[in-house]
Order: sequence, then structure tokens, then C-alpha cells
Amino acid sequence: LVQIMDVYKNYGPVRALNGVSLDVFKGEVVCIIGPSGSGKSTMLRCINNLEKISRGLIKVDGEIIGYKLVDGMLHELSDKLASRQRSKIGMVFQQFNLFPHKTVIENLIEGPTHVKGTKQQKARDTAAKLLNQVGLNEKAHSYPNQLSGGQQQRVAIARALAMEPELMLFDEPTSALDPELVGEVLQVMRGLANSGHTMIVVTHEIGFAREVADRIVFMDDGMIVEEGIAKELLADPKHTRTQNFLTAVR
Ligand code: ATP
Ligand code: MG
Repeated sequence: LVQIMDVYKNYGPVRALNGVSLDVFKGEVVCIIGPSGSGKSTMLRCINNLEKISRGLIKVDGEIIGYKLVDGMLHELSDKLASRQRSKIGMVFQQFNLFPHKTVIENLIEGPTHVKGTKQQKARDTAAKLLNQVGLNEKAHSYPNQLSGGQQQRVAIARALAMEPELMLFDEPTSALDPELVGEVLQVMRGLANSGHTMIVVTHEIGFAREVADRIVFMDDGMIVEEGIAKELLADPKHTRTQNFLTAVR
């Protein structure tokens, strides 16, 4: 579903991604781990075109991210087409990024009605189902600041799902949460993984990665140092840098 082909991303002199290649298959859950500054967030932001890559190519579901092919030449997508493309990819951030002046249900129907043109009633029905799925039906008419961090993050996940994305990206979704709230968010993510969603998850939760990920990718210095079947990589990391990182976080 996702093909990342020799991707580079520079911020001025900083090389945030330095030749990254990775394929993610439909239904697969891939966790990305690695030290601060290794390029994990940059990689997610490039996949959904929040950042423009400097070199290489990213495809999601056969579509080139940010570009279309016309007569063998790559043309940058218009804002409208780029936003339509991005709507197929759900993203959940460390900070929940809910619309503060909208209720929970309004947060959930905003994307479908405005970007996809879904009818109000249908969007509300879907939203109600999703709130049920993340265990928050009774909070439909609350505002984000009336919710706990864990509840807000579950709303953020439901809001991303409301767009029926092909792919879900998570950037450290639990690292801004109080420890006692981490579990409820991981529980929702576990449910998504078990129901066949394709997910790329940047996380420091090694236990979650071991249990839920099909594959783990270890990044350092803008590169993929090592990747493998989750349990194998955690039990028997091949590279010293992976070993050192795992020793430090465990
Ligand atoms: P963390 O675990 O701290 O979130 P990360 O692995 O997500 O780290 P990135 O945020 O992808 O790392 O950053 C990779 C590199 O790119 C770092 O050196 C960072 O300083 C740099 N960088 C990221 N975003 C920008 C930006 N907007 N402008 C300039 N440099 C940036
Ligand atoms: Mg990051």
C-alpha cells in the first residue's frame, strides 16, 4: 500500500531523511522507533505531504504523493488535489489538535462533510458509530477542553477514522498523556490493528510494538538502520545502534 523509495528530506543544511526506502503492505502494522531527531516525524509528515520531499518518491495505493504523472513528467498537485489525496491518509499527532470551539461530534463530521461532501445525517451516523468504537458515546456534545487527554486522543483517532482513510499514521500518540491514560488509547489502537487497518505508528511504547506490530523499523540519523519482524527484532537486534537504543529505553 505504501512505497517509500529512496527518499531524502533536507531542512536547509539538516538532512532529516537520508535515503529511506520502505514498503508497507495492506493490513500491516509497522512501528517506527528510534532516538530523538532520527527523522521519524519527518517520515510520517512526508507520507501525507505535510512536508515536500527533496528527492525520491512516495506512493500510497498506487498514487504518487504530491504529484501526478502527465506525459511521463511529474507535475505538482494543485492544493485541491493535494488535499483530496491527503484525506485518504489519517494522521494522529502527539498533541491532539482537535478544533477547540467545536464539540466532539462536530469535530468528527467536519472532515467528511467539508472535504468529502458527505451528507450531514450520514456523517453524524458514522460519527456516532466511531464514538461508540472508541468508548465515548456519552461525550458527543462535550468540548475538547472538557475531556481528559486520553479521551481527547480517542476523539482524534475517531476523527481521523471518520474520513475512512486507507492508511493511518500515528506520531507518538501517547507521549503527551499522563501514564494512567496511555492504556485506553493503546487499547483503541490495538482494536484498529486487529480489525485490519494499515497503520504506521511512531512510538516509544516498546511493549505495544512487540504485541501489535507486524514489523518494527529502527531509524537513526535519517536512515533505516534495521527492520524486521517485531518479536525477532526486539529479541535479537543485529545492529549495535539498535541494541543500544533498546537497552536505553527498556
Ligand atoms: P523526536 O523523537 O524528538 O520526535 P524525530 O525522530 O521525530 O524526533 P524529526 O522531528 O523527524 O525527528 O527531526 C529530524 C531532524 O530534522 C532533526 O534534526 C530536526 O531538528 C530536523 N527538523 C525537523 N523539522 C524541522 C523543520 N521544520 N525545520 C528544520 N529542521 C527540522
Ligand atoms: Mg517526532
